[in-house]
Amino acid sequence: MPQSAPSGAGSSGAGRFAPSPSGDLHLGNLRTAMLAWLFARSTGRRFLMRIEDLDRVRAGAETRQLDDLAALGLDWDGPIVRQSERLARYDAAIDELTAAGSTYECFCTRREIQQAVSAPHGPDGHYPGTCRDLSAAEIATKHDSGRPPAIRLRAEITEFAIEDELHGRYTGAIDDVVLRRGDGIPAYNLAVVVDDAEQGVDQVVRGDDLLSSAPRQAYLASLLSLIVPRYAHVPLALNSDGKRLAKRDGAVTLADQRALGRTPDEVRGILAASLGMAEAGDKPGLDELLRGFDPVALPRTPWVFADL
Ligand SMILES: [Zn+2]
Repeated sequence: MPQSAPSGAGSSGAGRFAPSPSGDLHLGNLRTAMLAWLFARSTGRRFLMRIEDLDRVRAGAETRQLDDLAALGLDWDGPIVRQSERLARYDAAIDELTAAGSTYECFCTRREIQQAVSAPHGPDGHYPGTCRDLSAAEIATKHDSGRPPAIRLRAEITEFAIEDELHGRYTGAIDDVVLRRGDGIPAYNLAVVVDDAEQGVDQVVRGDDLLSSAPRQAYLASLLSLIVPRYAHVPLALNSDGKRLAKRDGAVTLADQRALGRTPDEVRGILAASLGMAEAGDKPGLDELLRGFDPVALPRTPWVFADL
Protein backbone atom coordinates (compact mmCIF):
# COMPACT_ATOMS: atom_id res chain seq x y z
CA MET A 1 0.00 0.00 0.00
CA PRO A 2 1.28 3.50 -0.73
CA GLN A 3 1.92 5.63 2.28
CA SER A 4 -0.57 8.36 2.89
CA ALA A 5 -0.77 11.51 4.91
CA PRO A 6 -3.81 13.44 6.10
CA SER A 7 -4.96 15.39 3.07
CA GLY A 8 -3.78 18.96 3.13
CA ALA A 9 -2.36 18.67 6.61
CA GLY A 10 1.16 17.82 5.48
CA SER A 11 3.29 15.14 7.07
CA SER A 12 6.04 16.12 9.46
CA GLY A 13 8.37 13.89 7.49
CA ALA A 14 10.38 14.51 4.37
CA GLY A 15 11.66 12.89 1.23
CA ARG A 16 14.85 13.87 -0.48
CA PHE A 17 17.07 13.75 -3.53
CA ALA A 18 20.78 13.52 -2.87
CA PRO A 19 22.98 13.78 -5.97
CA SER A 20 26.77 13.57 -6.05
CA PRO A 21 28.12 16.53 -8.02
CA SER A 22 30.48 14.41 -10.09
CA GLY A 23 29.02 15.40 -13.47
CA ASP A 24 25.73 16.15 -15.19
CA LEU A 25 22.64 14.19 -14.15
CA HIS A 26 21.52 11.77 -16.84
CA LEU A 27 17.95 10.93 -17.71
CA GLY A 28 17.95 8.01 -15.28
CA ASN A 29 19.01 10.32 -12.43
CA LEU A 30 16.40 12.90 -13.45
CA ARG A 31 13.75 10.18 -13.58
CA THR A 32 14.66 9.03 -10.05
CA ALA A 33 14.58 12.65 -8.85
CA MET A 34 11.13 13.12 -10.35
CA LEU A 35 9.94 9.94 -8.61
CA ALA A 36 11.39 11.07 -5.28
CA TRP A 37 9.55 14.37 -5.67
CA LEU A 38 6.28 12.59 -6.56
CA PHE A 39 6.58 10.17 -3.63
CA ALA A 40 7.20 13.05 -1.21
CA ARG A 41 4.62 15.50 -2.54
CA SER A 42 1.91 12.85 -2.91
CA THR A 43 2.25 12.00 0.78
CA GLY A 44 2.33 15.57 2.06
CA ARG A 45 6.01 15.45 2.83
CA ARG A 46 8.61 18.13 2.45
CA PHE A 47 11.14 17.50 -0.32
CA LEU A 48 14.76 18.20 0.57
CA MET A 49 17.87 18.56 -1.57
CA ARG A 50 21.20 17.28 -0.29
CA ILE A 51 24.50 17.48 -2.14
CA GLU A 52 26.69 14.46 -1.41
CA ASP A 53 30.00 16.17 -2.04
CA LEU A 54 32.39 14.27 0.22
CA ASP A 55 34.06 12.79 -2.84
CA ARG A 56 34.22 13.02 -6.63
CA VAL A 57 33.27 16.68 -6.97
CA ARG A 58 33.49 18.28 -10.40
CA ALA A 59 33.55 22.07 -10.59
CA GLY A 60 30.24 23.51 -11.76
CA ALA A 61 28.37 20.21 -11.61
CA GLU A 62 26.22 21.10 -8.59
CA THR A 63 24.88 24.24 -10.26
CA ARG A 64 24.11 22.41 -13.50
CA GLN A 65 22.38 19.58 -11.63
CA LEU A 66 20.17 21.96 -9.66
CA ASP A 67 19.39 23.97 -12.81
CA ASP A 68 18.33 20.78 -14.62
CA LEU A 69 16.08 19.68 -11.75
CA ALA A 70 14.46 23.11 -11.63
CA ALA A 71 14.03 23.12 -15.42
CA LEU A 72 11.92 19.96 -15.09
CA GLY A 73 9.77 21.82 -12.56
CA LEU A 74 11.02 20.14 -9.38
CA ASP A 75 11.13 22.34 -6.31
CA TRP A 76 12.51 21.69 -2.85
CA ASP A 77 12.05 23.00 0.65
CA GLY A 78 14.50 24.74 2.91
CA PRO A 79 18.20 25.31 2.36
CA ILE A 80 20.32 22.91 0.34
CA VAL A 81 22.46 20.76 2.63
CA ARG A 82 26.03 19.89 1.64
CA GLN A 83 27.77 16.96 3.27
CA SER A 84 31.14 18.72 3.11
CA GLU A 85 29.78 21.20 5.70
CA ARG A 86 28.73 18.45 8.11
CA LEU A 87 31.93 16.54 8.87
CA ALA A 88 31.71 17.20 12.62
CA ARG A 89 28.32 15.48 12.75
CA TYR A 90 29.63 12.33 11.09
CA ASP A 91 32.60 12.28 13.46
CA ALA A 92 30.23 12.64 16.43
CA ALA A 93 28.21 9.62 15.24
CA ILE A 94 31.40 7.55 14.82
CA ASP A 95 32.52 8.65 18.30
CA GLU A 96 29.18 7.51 19.69
CA LEU A 97 29.56 4.08 18.11
CA THR A 98 33.17 3.87 19.29
CA ALA A 99 32.16 4.73 22.86
CA ALA A 100 29.68 1.85 22.68
CA GLY A 101 32.43 -0.56 21.60
CA SER A 102 30.91 -0.87 18.13
CA THR A 103 33.91 0.09 15.98
CA TYR A 104 37.47 -1.03 15.32
CA GLU A 105 40.45 0.14 13.32
CA CYS A 106 41.15 -1.54 9.98
CA PHE A 107 44.64 -1.35 8.53
CA CYS A 108 44.01 -3.39 5.39
CA THR A 109 45.09 -2.04 2.04
CA ARG A 110 42.62 -1.99 -0.82
CA ARG A 111 44.55 -4.89 -2.34
CA GLU A 112 44.43 -6.95 0.85
CA ILE A 113 40.68 -6.47 1.04
CA GLN A 114 40.23 -7.44 -2.61
CA GLN A 115 42.20 -10.62 -2.03
CA ALA A 116 40.26 -11.39 1.14
CA VAL A 117 36.81 -10.84 -0.33
CA SER A 118 37.56 -13.08 -3.29
CA ALA A 119 38.29 -15.93 -0.89
CA PRO A 120 35.58 -18.61 -0.88
CA HIS A 121 33.83 -17.65 2.34
CA GLY A 122 31.30 -15.07 3.40
CA PRO A 123 28.93 -13.04 1.23
CA ASP A 124 30.44 -11.81 -2.03
CA GLY A 125 32.37 -8.58 -1.60
CA HIS A 126 32.01 -8.46 2.16
CA TYR A 127 34.91 -7.62 4.41
CA PRO A 128 35.88 -10.81 6.26
CA GLY A 129 36.84 -9.12 9.54
CA THR A 130 40.62 -9.38 9.17
CA CYS A 131 41.31 -6.59 11.70
CA ARG A 132 38.36 -7.23 13.99
CA ASP A 133 40.26 -9.05 16.71
CA LEU A 134 43.79 -7.67 16.52
CA SER A 135 45.63 -7.61 19.84
CA ALA A 136 46.74 -4.33 21.40
CA ALA A 137 50.33 -5.18 20.45
CA GLU A 138 49.35 -5.86 16.83
CA ILE A 139 47.44 -2.59 16.69
CA ALA A 140 50.44 -0.71 18.10
CA THR A 141 52.70 -2.24 15.45
CA LYS A 142 50.24 -1.30 12.72
CA HIS A 143 50.11 2.28 14.01
CA ASP A 144 53.91 2.43 13.95
CA SER A 145 53.86 1.51 10.27
CA GLY A 146 52.30 4.92 9.62
CA ARG A 147 49.25 3.79 7.65
CA PRO A 148 46.20 5.70 8.92
CA PRO A 149 43.49 3.14 9.71
CA ALA A 150 39.94 3.14 8.49
CA ILE A 151 37.22 2.82 11.12
CA ARG A 152 34.83 -0.10 10.70
CA LEU A 153 31.59 -1.05 12.34
CA ARG A 154 31.78 -4.04 14.65
CA ALA A 155 28.53 -5.60 13.46
CA GLU A 156 26.80 -7.91 15.93
CA ILE A 157 24.40 -9.42 13.41
CA THR A 158 24.73 -10.85 9.91
CA GLU A 159 21.48 -9.70 8.33
CA PHE A 160 18.82 -7.05 8.77
CA ALA A 161 15.39 -6.48 7.21
CA ILE A 162 13.86 -3.30 5.84
CA GLU A 163 10.47 -2.40 4.39
CA ASP A 164 10.43 -1.18 0.81
CA GLU A 165 7.49 0.34 -1.03
CA LEU A 166 8.24 -1.60 -4.23
CA HIS A 167 10.18 -4.62 -2.94
CA GLY A 168 8.25 -5.36 0.23
CA ARG A 169 10.20 -6.81 3.12
CA TYR A 170 13.84 -7.09 2.06
CA THR A 171 16.51 -8.83 4.11
CA GLY A 172 20.16 -8.10 3.33
CA ALA A 173 23.55 -9.14 4.64
CA ILE A 174 25.34 -6.98 7.21
CA ASP A 175 29.11 -6.83 7.43
CA ASP A 176 31.68 -4.63 9.16
CA VAL A 177 31.20 -1.63 6.88
CA VAL A 178 33.69 1.22 6.77
CA LEU A 179 32.48 4.23 8.72
CA ARG A 180 35.47 6.47 8.09
CA ARG A 181 38.05 5.83 5.41
CA GLY A 182 41.77 5.85 6.07
CA ASP A 183 41.99 9.28 4.44
CA GLY A 184 39.60 10.63 7.09
CA ILE A 185 36.55 10.99 4.84
CA PRO A 186 33.32 9.65 6.36
CA ALA A 187 31.88 6.73 4.42
CA TYR A 188 28.72 7.12 2.38
CA ASN A 189 26.80 4.54 4.43
CA LEU A 190 27.39 6.47 7.64
CA ALA A 191 26.85 9.96 6.23
CA VAL A 192 23.46 9.23 4.65
CA VAL A 193 22.17 7.71 7.88
CA VAL A 194 23.22 10.72 9.95
CA ASP A 195 21.89 13.19 7.38
CA ASP A 196 18.55 11.52 6.79
CA ALA A 197 17.82 11.36 10.51
CA GLU A 198 18.90 14.91 11.23
CA GLN A 199 16.95 16.29 8.28
CA GLY A 200 13.79 14.46 9.32
CA VAL A 201 13.86 12.29 6.18
CA ASP A 202 11.52 9.35 6.74
CA GLN A 203 11.09 8.39 3.08
CA VAL A 204 14.10 7.41 0.96
CA VAL A 205 13.45 7.06 -2.77
CA ARG A 206 16.47 6.16 -4.90
CA GLY A 207 17.75 3.76 -7.55
CA ASP A 208 17.45 0.06 -6.81
CA ASP A 209 21.22 -0.37 -7.19
CA LEU A 210 21.25 0.83 -3.57
CA LEU A 211 18.69 -1.70 -2.31
CA SER A 212 21.40 -4.01 -0.97
CA SER A 213 22.89 -1.08 1.00
CA ALA A 214 19.62 -0.28 2.75
CA PRO A 215 19.78 -3.03 5.42
CA ARG A 216 23.22 -1.94 6.63
CA GLN A 217 22.13 1.70 6.67
CA ALA A 218 18.98 0.80 8.59
CA TYR A 219 21.05 -1.26 11.02
CA LEU A 220 23.41 1.69 11.53
CA ALA A 221 20.42 3.94 12.18
CA SER A 222 19.11 1.52 14.78
CA LEU A 223 22.51 1.41 16.52
CA LEU A 224 22.47 5.22 16.68
CA SER A 225 18.89 5.19 18.01
CA LEU A 226 17.68 6.94 14.86
CA ILE A 227 14.41 6.42 13.00
CA VAL A 228 14.72 3.97 10.13
CA PRO A 229 13.14 5.55 7.03
CA ARG A 230 10.62 3.95 4.75
CA TYR A 231 12.33 3.01 1.47
CA ALA A 232 11.31 2.92 -2.18
CA HIS A 233 14.05 1.59 -4.45
CA VAL A 234 13.01 2.35 -8.00
CA PRO A 235 14.20 0.64 -11.21
CA LEU A 236 17.22 2.14 -12.92
CA ALA A 237 17.71 3.33 -16.46
CA LEU A 238 19.93 0.96 -18.42
CA ASN A 239 21.56 1.15 -21.83
CA SER A 240 20.80 -1.30 -24.61
CA ASP A 241 23.53 -3.61 -23.25
CA GLY A 242 21.75 -3.82 -19.91
CA LYS A 243 24.41 -1.71 -18.17
CA ARG A 244 23.75 1.37 -16.07
CA LEU A 245 23.17 4.41 -18.22
CA ALA A 246 26.29 6.52 -18.79
CA LYS A 247 27.44 9.57 -20.67
CA ARG A 248 28.66 7.54 -23.65
CA ASP A 249 25.21 6.06 -24.26
CA GLY A 250 24.04 9.01 -26.36
CA ALA A 251 21.90 12.06 -25.64
CA VAL A 252 21.50 11.21 -21.96
CA THR A 253 21.58 14.62 -20.27
CA LEU A 254 19.08 17.46 -20.36
CA ALA A 255 21.71 19.55 -22.17
CA ASP A 256 22.07 16.80 -24.77
CA GLN A 257 18.31 16.69 -25.22
CA ARG A 258 18.13 20.47 -25.55
CA ALA A 259 20.81 20.28 -28.22
CA LEU A 260 18.46 17.95 -30.10
CA GLY A 261 15.78 20.64 -29.89
CA ARG A 262 13.72 19.15 -27.06
CA THR A 263 12.30 21.36 -24.32
CA PRO A 264 12.38 20.37 -20.63
CA ASP A 265 8.60 19.84 -20.88
CA GLU A 266 9.15 17.30 -23.64
CA VAL A 267 11.89 15.57 -21.63
CA ARG A 268 9.61 15.37 -18.60
CA GLY A 269 7.05 13.78 -20.92
CA ILE A 270 9.62 11.19 -22.05
CA LEU A 271 10.40 10.36 -18.42
CA ALA A 272 6.70 10.16 -17.54
CA ALA A 273 6.06 7.86 -20.51
CA SER A 274 8.92 5.63 -19.37
CA LEU A 275 7.07 5.25 -16.06
CA GLY A 276 3.76 4.44 -17.73
CA MET A 277 2.37 7.76 -16.52
CA ALA A 278 1.91 9.36 -19.95
CA GLU A 279 1.52 8.45 -23.59
CA ALA A 280 4.51 8.93 -25.87
CA GLY A 281 4.54 12.52 -27.08
CA ASP A 282 2.50 13.86 -24.14
CA LYS A 283 3.88 16.75 -22.11
CA PRO A 284 2.16 16.42 -18.74
CA GLY A 285 2.88 19.03 -16.09
CA LEU A 286 4.20 17.95 -12.73
CA ASP A 287 0.89 18.84 -11.07
CA GLU A 288 -0.89 16.52 -13.49
CA LEU A 289 1.60 13.72 -12.78
CA LEU A 290 1.16 14.30 -9.06
CA ARG A 291 -2.63 13.93 -9.30
CA GLY A 292 -2.29 10.60 -11.09
CA PHE A 293 0.65 9.25 -9.11
CA ASP A 294 0.23 5.69 -7.85
CA PRO A 295 3.36 3.91 -6.58
CA VAL A 296 1.67 0.53 -6.99
CA ALA A 297 1.41 1.09 -10.74
CA LEU A 298 5.10 1.87 -11.25
CA PRO A 299 7.09 -0.45 -13.50
CA ARG A 300 9.21 -2.98 -11.61
CA THR A 301 11.70 -3.49 -14.41
CA PRO A 302 14.47 -1.19 -15.65
CA TRP A 303 13.90 1.45 -18.29
CA VAL A 304 16.05 0.54 -21.27
CA PHE A 305 17.17 3.78 -22.84
CA ALA A 306 17.34 3.65 -26.62
CA ASP A 307 18.97 6.81 -27.92
CA LEU A 308 16.01 9.10 -28.35
ZN1 LIG B 1 41.40 -4.65 8.02
